[in-house]
Amino acid sequence: MIIELQQNIKPDTLHQLKALLTINQVAFSHVEKQNIIVAPKISNKSVLSGIDGIEKVIEIDTPYQLSSKQYKKETHFLVNGTSVGNNFINLIAGPCSVETEEQIYSTAEFLSKTGIKFMRGGAYKPRTSPYAFRGLGLDGLKILRKAADEYKLNVVTELMDLSLLDQIMEYSDIIQIGSRNMSNFYLLAELGKIEKPIMLKRGMSARLSEWLLAADYILSGGNDKVILCERGIRSFDPEVRNTMDVAAIPMIQDLSHLPIIADPSHGTGMAKFVHPLSLASLVAGANGLMIEIHPDPKKSLSDAQQAMTFADFEILVQEIRKLESAINKPIDATYEEA
Ligand code: PEP
Ligand code: MN
Repeated sequence: MIIELQQNIKPDTLHQLKALLTINQVAFSHVEKQNIIVAPKISNKSVLSGIDGIEKVIEIDTPYQLSSKQYKKETHFLVNGTSVGNNFINLIAGPCSVETEEQIYSTAEFLSKTGIKFMRGGAYKPRTSPYAFRGLGLDGLKILRKAADEYKLNVVTELMDLSLLDQIMEYSDIIQIGSRNMSNFYLLAELGKIEKPIMLKRGMSARLSEWLLAADYILSGGNDKVILCERGIRSFDPEVRNTMDVAAIPMIQDLSHLPIIADPSHGTGMAKFVHPLSLASLVAGANGLMIEIHPDPKKSLSDAQQAMTFADFEILVQEIRKLESAINKPIDATYEEA
């Protein structure tokens, strides 16, 4: 249930409304930026009767509310002038991890030459083993930012922990929340308080409803710039790293107004399958792709098996550009910011 408040609602009335919800044991969230109160569906509607200051009550049947398509038809926003969401495609590429300045500069140069606007790269890496390469940290963020600025790219990088929020805010344009943190609800709630776009990856065993509820943690804090990223789910077949859930793309678009991009690199775990799954994801309706590439994949310090070479990525981009008119979504369209 989303209660749209009147613009001029008196503080006393708002207080009364909140008190009534509390007395009736309704857990709610007041999203001041949007002037709404979000609460689960309640059976006893009379709770709200007699309260003025309410513009409209929108009933939402699902546990997730703000991410639901019943609330909003579409979401799109600009990231430094590039349109994200709804009828647009964004291509994000770069290495799994920031390793060296040389690696990032050659990636940035290549991306800019290929017409890509978003560079990814992890400076803080969630690794299964504590003995694996865990990223360059702040030094990595600095390299990413410098190279991105030089080549006019946007930076997508992962935030692992709340203690690093200020750093990541300073050096990124889109904050990536990884699969392992999709259920870190306190972290998500904090991201609701900022303005920067958040790319929320699907938890490796998350149901669609759990994923959308995670998005609601961010949205209910007031940050409405959320992008979902399907990155494969853990399944029973040891042949594959993850099972790329292409079906989740149209399903999410049926349930939610949030943009959804696909990450076939983690989705398959193998470079040779990234090309077909990228095309499949776009045809299935994805609003973009995030792909791991490396100047020398064999030397990659993380996720080496799934990293595409620049040459293979270039071929993929050519194929994607051929698809552009068929799927009727412009790739990385840029606009003047208002
Ligand atoms: C990544 O994008 O490098 C990453 C760690 O992804 P995920 O959180 O999906 O495993
Ligand atoms: Mn990776």
